[in-house]
Formats: sequence, structure tokens, C-alpha cells
Amino acid sequence: MTREYKKYSNRELIKSFIPYYSRYKWMFFLDMLFAAMTTVSELILPMILSEITDTATSDLAKLTMNFIGKMTFIYLILRIIEMVGFYFMQSVGHIMGARIERDMRMDLFTHIQGQSMEFFSENKVGSLMSRLTSDLMDITEFAHHGPENIFITGIKIIVSFIILILIDIPLTLVIFLIIPFMVFFSRKSRIRMREFQRSQRRFMGELNSDIEDSLLGVNVVQSYGNEKLEGEKFQEKNEIYAKLREKFYYAMADYLTITRAFDALMYIVVILFGGYSLIKGRITAGNFVAFIFYVQTLLTSVRKIVEFADMFSRGISGIERFTELMDIETTIVDKIDAIELKDVKGKIEFHDVTFSYPGFDELVLKNLNLTVNEGESVAIVGPSGAGKTTISKLIPRFYDIDSGKITIDGIDISEVTLESLRDNIGIVQQDVYLFSGNVYENIEYGRPGASKDDIIEAAKHAAAYDFIMDLPAGFDTYVGERGVKLSGGQKQRISIARAFLKNPKILILDEATSALDNKSENIVQKSLNRLSEGRTTITIAHRLSTIKNADKIYVLTDEGITEEGSHKDLLDLKGEYYNLYQVVEK
Ligand code: ADP
Repeated sequence: MTREYKKYSNRELIKSFIPYYSRYKWMFFLDMLFAAMTTVSELILPMILSEITDTATSDLAKLTMNFIGKMTFIYLILRIIEMVGFYFMQSVGHIMGARIERDMRMDLFTHIQGQSMEFFSENKVGSLMSRLTSDLMDITEFAHHGPENIFITGIKIIVSFIILILIDIPLTLVIFLIIPFMVFFSRKSRIRMREFQRSQRRFMGELNSDIEDSLLGVNVVQSYGNEKLEGEKFQEKNEIYAKLREKFYYAMADYLTITRAFDALMYIVVILFGGYSLIKGRITAGNFVAFIFYVQTLLTSVRKIVEFADMFSRGISGIERFTELMDIETTIVDKIDAIELKDVKGKIEFHDVTFSYPGFDELVLKNLNLTVNEGESVAIVGPSGAGKTTISKLIPRFYDIDSGKITIDGIDISEVTLESLRDNIGIVQQDVYLFSGNVYENIEYGRPGASKDDIIEAAKHAAAYDFIMDLPAGFDTYVGERGVKLSGGQKQRISIARAFLKNPKILILDEATSALDNKSENIVQKSLNRLSEGRTTITIAHRLSTIKNADKIYVLTDEGITEEGSHKDLLDLKGEYYNLYQVVEK
């Protein structure tokens, strides 16, 4: 099932984003102030030059060193103001962006972490990661450069307009008439350029995964003598990529040439119409110089607007992806009046439980009734797909049931806090997840902050102590990413040590030994047996040999629980269990 995301308008997206600025109002205000400071020298330089030119052309005697010195000093002060503004705009602006990014990332991380299993089966970790990193970077670039750009170009265009209109109205109108066309055509060609750039990038991703595929499977390629075939396949894609790049460069040349053409047009207009105004005596030589400079300012501002449109679309799509995720409500949450699950004895009951996975119609469990008494060891067996693992996921409330009730010591698990519920349940699964870090930290994960003695004792209980001491750095041995440096049996014993440390009243063993060879299985099984002493244990097992000693065995099939009793009872029954036993064990 793929989720249909809600469509948001740009307005909604920006609105949802504004609260992130609120903590940094002052920084934002300062950033805008500094941005304004960076515009002064560019806006006043034409006036200074115009003043000098006019003085030179009207009365050369007035053009003294004193006068030039004064003008230079004014310009120097303006440049200093500009540099101070620029320095702080660069630092404060970026820092504000980085802080906003930090806040958003934390919010998103917390939000994702609180999501249910349903969410994680729908969203790939890779795509979530890119949302937490590169997408957010697009947003922060936009978060500060966006307002800065709007502000700076706004000031420049408005001030230029006012000054130009004061100098010569017709000429200004002609120039401002050209600007919309310039924006339109530049934007159009830039969008085209960007599209080619995007498709080029997308294709690069494809090419990369092809290369990876071929190189990882190089053994197969060589053993079948298929180098030529692979080469041809690669050549084809490589060719397409080169073609895409060509298209991109043509589009880029279009964009740059169009921009230049408008530059040329603007200057031609100024020279032609400005020259005419000069002849007619409507403007002075100084005005003419000022005109040229302000037109230059306008041209760079227009280019900035066109570039900003790009940044805007990237930023907005980043915000959209952010909002999409933030708007997914966490489905599994504490009830408002949820109580703490305390002093657990460990009796688990399923009362008429019906369950289907969210988004799927098929009922996995239908009116299931099941009782596991305090301290009892119960095994659930049955054909694959019958719903055994599902049962183990319902007890810690990784999913909510459709109807019926699951209780622990008679208390409905939906009435208690998730934290207190899960605190009382230990799960040992087939796939052990070890975090990158050392052995000690991985065991400590069972009860963060546990004492060293407790951790060592847990390792001993799990029969992990000896092998840990044999590792190069004992408990300090780095387990490598996901524990790749350890064998399956060793990893499993570390996870058992974790469970010992947690010391929960309820234990769920989900095919904990099914991936191990016989020898490791024996060792791990012994640890598991020790772990389950004094706890209510539900074992989900493929290998029936491991559950012979269970107090009670339930046989779960598509029809629900069809048989229950001890190993011996069920063999005597010569039913489903008996058949399974024949298939699996013989
Ligand atoms: P068992 O552990 O007995 O092999 P499961 O509990 O894993 O069976 O699965 C029971 C049924 O639920 C199967 O039909 C399976 O396809 C389906 N199922 C399991 N996990 C999911 C999931 N995350 N989303 C949708 N359907 C699922």
C-alpha cells in the first residue's frame, strides 16, 4: 500500500514553516538589517559618479582634490557599512538557517521515531534519511537566502526605480517595460535548463546502480563470459547519459545567451534613448552615467529574481516533503487517561482478538482466544503465514487490534502507557540488531545506566561472558556496523544478555534460534531456558525440538488455534501437530 499524500498549496506550506522562524525573530530582524546594509554602496555609487561627472562637465574649477577626497571618503564609509553588513549577513543568516534546520530535524526525527510499524513498512529507511538530511538542507538555504534575496532585490529595484524616475521618466518607463519580458524569457529558459539538469542527475543515479550491480556481480558476469553483453548494456546507458548532458549544455547556453541578449538590449536602450535625452538637454552627463549604473543594478537584481525562483521551488518541495511526514499522525499512542502497568505478574490473555494489518483486508487473526498463565512457558507453532509473529507483535502493541481485547494481569493493554507496557516485555528475535558501538554498550541498551557488575552478570547468565572475554578488547570490542564482526550465535547471546539486564516479566522469543546451526543453537537454547525461568514466556518456533518442554503448545493455523496441550498430548492426538512434527523433525 502506498500512502496518498495530501496536496498542499504553497501558501499552506509557507504558513506551516513560519513558526520555525519565531524562535529566531531577532536573528531574522538583524539578518534583514544587515542585508539592507549590503545594498547601500551599490545604490549610492552611481550618485557619487554622477556628481563628479556633472562637476567636471559644468565647472572644472570646482573639481578639486578636496572634492574628490570627500567623495572617496563617503564611498569608503559606504563600503565599510556594506562589509559589516555582508559579514553579519553571511554569518548570522547562515547560523539562523542552521538552527532552523536543527529544530526541524529534531522534530522530524522525534516524529519518525514515534511512528508505528505500519509507517516503517511503508517508508524506506533510505528515503527517510534523505528527508532528514539533504531535503532539510534545501529548506534552510531557502529559509535565510529567500527573505534576504527578496529584501535586497526589493530595495534595489525600488530605490533604482525612484532615482531613475527622478532623472528621466520616459527612459525609466522604457526600461521597466523591458524587465517583465526579461524575467519571463530568462525564467522559461532557466526552467528548461533545470529540467535537463534534473533528468541528468536522475539518470546518473540509474547509471550508478547499474555499475554497482555489474561490479558486485562481476563473478557471475565473468563465469558466464558475459563481459561483452554487460559492456554493450553499459555503452547504451553511457551514451544516453552523454546525450542528456549535451542537451543540458545547449539549454544552459540558451539561458545564458538570452540573459546576455537582454543585457545588451537594456544598454542599447540607455545609450540610444539616454543619448537622445542628453542631446535634448533633458538630462546631464552625470545623469547619463548614473543611468548606466542603475541599469546594471537592475540587471543583476532581475537575474537574482530568476535564480531565486529556482531556490524557491527547491525549498518549497523540501518543505512539502517535511510537512507530508509531519502530518502523518502516530497511530499508536497512549490514551489520555492511560495508567502505568505496575507489579506485573505476567498473565496474558487474548479475548476474541480480530486483527488485520492496516491497509489490508485479509484477517490475520479472527476471534482468537488464548491464555498464558503467570510464569508459564507457552509455544505457538503452525504453518508459515498463520499469524504467529503477528501475535508476538500485538502484545507490545506494535499494532492495535481491530476488535477484542488483549490483557496483561487482566488489564487491557490499550489502557496502559506504552512505555510501562514495553518495559515489562522482552523480545528476542531471529534478527538481532546490534548498534554500532562496543559489546558493553550493546548489552547496556537493555537497561541504560546499569552498573558494570550487572552487565557482566547478564553476560554470564546469557553464556556470553566467555566468548566476550576472548574478543580482542573484551567488552570494549567494537562490534562493527550491525555487529558484522560477530557470529549469529554470539549476536544472539548478546541480545539475550540485553534481555537479562532488562529483566522483564514477559518474554517473547520469536524464532530466536532458527537461523543458527545446531551447535550454536544448543548453546543459545540453554541461555534462553535460563532467561525464561520465572517469566511468562511465549515462544514462536519453527523447530519443534526446542519447544518440547513448553508447558503448553498452541497450534495456530489459518482457522485459528486448532490444537493445544503438551508435546506429548499433541503427539498422541495425531493431528496437525503430529503432522508438523513428522515433516519438520524427520
Ligand atoms: P507466521 O509468523 O505465522 O509465519 P505472520 O504473523 O508473519 O505469520 O503473518 C501472518 C499474515 O500476515 C501473512 O499472511 C503475512 O503475509 C501477513 N503480514 C505479516 N506482516 C505483515 C505486514 N507488516 N503488513 C501486511 N501483512 C503482513
